[in-house]
This record gives sequence, structure tokens and C-alpha cells, in this order.
Amino acid sequence: MSAGAIHQQHPEPAPRAVPHSADSVIIGAGVLGLLTALELRRAGMSVVVLDAGRAGSAQSGSNLGFVRQQGRGASEATLMRRSTELWGQLHGRLGERLGWTNGGHASVGRDAASEVEVRAWAPIAREQGIPFELLGPREATQRFPWIGAGVGVVGFTPTDGHLDPVVAMQAIRGLALSEGVELLENVPAVSLDITGGNVVGVQTPGGTIRTAATVLAAGMWSSRLLRRHGVHLPQYTGVGTVARTVPVPRLTHSTVWDLTGAGMRQDLSGRINFGLGQHVDIDVGWEEVSAAPHLLRTYLGSWRTLRLHAGRRLAGDVGSRLRRLPLAALPLDRPEANLKLVARARRELGRLVPSLGESVEIESAWAGAIDSSADFLPVIGEVGLSGLVVLTGMSGHGMGIAPAAAEAVAQIVVTGDAGSADISALDPRRLRGFRAYDTHAPR
Ligand SMILES: Cc1cc2nc3c(=O)[nH]c(=O)nc-3n(C[C@H](O)[C@H](O)[C@H](O)COP(=O)(O)OP(=O)(O)OC[C@H]3O[C@@H](n4cnc5c(N)ncnc54)[C@H](O)[C@@H]3O)c2cc1C
Repeated sequence: MSAGAIHQQHPEPAPRAVPHSADSVIIGAGVLGLLTALELRRAGMSVVVLDAGRAGSAQSGSNLGFVRQQGRGASEATLMRRSTELWGQLHGRLGERLGWTNGGHASVGRDAASEVEVRAWAPIAREQGIPFELLGPREATQRFPWIGAGVGVVGFTPTDGHLDPVVAMQAIRGLALSEGVELLENVPAVSLDITGGNVVGVQTPGGTIRTAATVLAAGMWSSRLLRRHGVHLPQYTGVGTVARTVPVPRLTHSTVWDLTGAGMRQDLSGRINFGLGQHVDIDVGWEEVSAAPHLLRTYLGSWRTLRLHAGRRLAGDVGSRLRRLPLAALPLDRPEANLKLVARARRELGRLVPSLGESVEIESAWAGAIDSSADFLPVIGEVGLSGLVVLTGMSGHGMGIAPAAAEAVAQIVVTGDAGSADISALDPRRLRGFRAYDTHAPR
């Protein structure tokens, strides 16, 4: 059968018609995009949210679900503290549907380096007014009787929590729809409509939506969309793998991170969701190669936990560069779980919780691509185009930080600045290799 015959049997669906205009358009219906949409609706704006796939199907529906202030640097801690309050408020509105548990977070130090890391957070907690306890080995065993031997110190933040990302995203999507957000799934933003340095619309296969306010919250896809307009936003992607056990008797309501091994949370059904911290597979693309000189230190410092793979993505990118074509959008499909990492994480989980043993039954494992900046901090701000705010590069912290980041961005859209949220350290201009929009550049 010829390709033409296949085409006749399954004709391409006509591009979906889109509204002619809206007060605001958000590109990406992950947790950041949808929560920003809710904030803008609350401010009385009409909001269209576009997603190239299904809402919540990317990182926001595949993460580990930690909402953790502990361990965050000073420049993120204020937003994280606010986020914890806002997750609590969302729980008040959505109840069980959000899958939120406010059980605190425990960071476990077992060797000299990890103990220093746990204790080092105390000044930030003090400065931010976040309750933080340091537990010695005996207190740790009293609080967490199931924990394995060899604990030096545990840092505990009682106000941290966790949620089930799949359940949470369904609930947030439902809330957005009920609040009048117009959600268009399987409708990609193809490019921005720019006139005289202002973004005046968003182009989709079904037409252009005119708007004076666009928020780019397309996760790892953000940087390549901006590149089409000469904006270089250094953004990298890695793949994290997580797994889930069958239900086991209740151990804890806290999230637990052994800084020398596995992180885990026990969800409402009793299943333990777990993974290895910092262990990431990187499918190298043009971004990683072109930034190699200043990423080298990161790679060398993390050689135990980062695995670089040069394959089809790099070949495609090099081909595009040689033919002077724009880099293709990254694929939407989910990456595959790294089963070697699952096996290792299971061993580490057995060390953290010996009663589970290393042979605890694994129900499922999955992976998700994580978008990141070079300094592992979110990227929030403007890129030289009025009418556009960028909200991306969450660096593995996005589920937790989303409500406060969305609140700050909505404030920028409505009033022109982030108000009381100090997000200056997250501005895209801090990034090496960043290039803002140039109105005078030849097109
Ligand atoms: C394995 C793993 C574990 C993690 N663990 C945690 C954790 O414990 N705690 C935590 O806080 N964070 C964690 N994260 C990170 C967190 O999931 C992300 O930071 C967060 O979900 C990012 O949300 P987002 O809305 O920016 O992006 P995404 O959820 O990736 O959403 C972006 C959306 O944009 C859409 N899109 C792409 N291109 C276009 C286009 N051209 N037009 C329209 N739409 C487009 C995509 O389809 C996608 O739905 C983890 C991530 C992974 C993968």
C-alpha cells in the first residue's frame, strides 16, 4: 500500500479553529501554565491555554511529587515558602482530589558531606522563618522507627508536603475549566506574532490568537520556540526515572530524602514512590554541545550521577544547523525508564527502609524529561519582548514552586512587576549565553 493510500484512509484532521483574541494566552498546560491561568482568571482576564499535547502529560504528570522548601537556596526559598501556603489553600478548595499530604520533609545525612549539607540549610530556614529541626541519630530513630542504621543527622521541615502529580493535574485541569479558562489541547503554539518588539499574538496551525499578554510556560520546549525569534534562552534537558512499589503498610506521611541514596514518599494508597536523587540521563542536543565549555564544570562535578548519550537528537540538530534550518521542536513523547537506575534505587530504598527489603515488589516505573537551567534555578521574567513573560527551566523544582511562581507571573502580567515576590535572581538575563530579542536584527 502506498503512503498516499494510507493518507486517504486516515486524512490529517483539519487544524482546530482557535479564538481570534483573548486578554492572555498561555503556551503550555503543565502545572505552571494552568496555575498561572487560574491566577489571571481571578484577575478578571479571559485566558486561552494552548498545549501541544494533553494538559499535564509532560513533567507535571510524571514527577515524584515532593513539595519541598528544605534544601532550596536562598533565592528560591521565599517562593517555596509561599507555595507551601498556596498548596494548602488549593487543598482547601479541591480536598482529596489534589492528593496533598502535609507530612513534612526529612533529609537524611549519613556521611560527612551529606551531614554538612543537611545542617547547612539551618541559616536559610531561620532567615525565612521556616520551622526546621535537626535530629541526632537517637531522635531520628524515635521519629522514624523504620529507618536503616547509619544515620548521622536528619533535617526535618514539618511544613513541607507532597502530592500525587497525576491526580493533582487532573484536579487542577478540572478547576481551570470550571473557572472559565479556555483550554485547547493538541494545539501547539507554532510561533509568536511580533510587531515592533511587542508580542501581539500567538500563531497556531488553526490561526493566530491576538493578545497583549503571552506567558511561555512550555517546559523544555520553551527555548526552541524562542530561538525561532532570535532569543537564546540556555535550557537543558535530562531524563529522570522513578518507580512505585505495591501498597505497603503505612510507614510515614513525610517525604524522605537520603542524600546519599534514594528519595521516597508514600502516597495515600500506601504505595512508595521513589527514585535516586540527581541521577539523570542526558540525550545530548545542540544546546548541550554549544554550551559545553561552561557546562563542563557541572558535568565533571556530577560525573557519578549524569549519563550523557549522543544519538538521534544530536544527529538531527547537527543536520538542521548544517542546512541552516531552525532546530526541530523536541518530541512530545515520554522517554523510557532506565531500568538499571530502578534496580539501583530499589537497593537504596532497601538500605533506607530495611523492613521493605531489597526485593520489595515494584508495580511500575516511568521516566520524565526535566528541563533545567545551568544554575539549576527557575527562569522567570522577560526576554526583551513586551507582552511576553517566560516561566520555564524549573530545574526539577517546578511541582513544588508552581503556585508561587504562577502568582508572581500573573502579577507581572496584570501590573507590570512581581510585587512582593522577589524573583530578581531568577531573571533570564543572569544566564550565560542568554540573548534577548533584538528589534533591529535582520529577519
Ligand atoms: C522524574 C521527575 C521527577 C520530578 N520530581 C519533582 C519533585 O519531586 N518535586 C518538584 O517540585 N518537581 C519535580 N520534578 C520537576 C517538575 O515536574 C517540573 O519542574 C514541572 O512539572 C514543570 O512544569 P511545567 O508546567 O513548567 O512543564 P511541563 O509539565 O513539562 O509542561 C509543559 C507543557 O508545554 C506543552 N508544550 C510544549 N510545546 C508546546 C507548544 N509549542 N505549544 C503549546 N504547548 C506546548 C507540553 O505539551 C507540556 O504539556 C520532577 C520531574 C521529573 C520528570
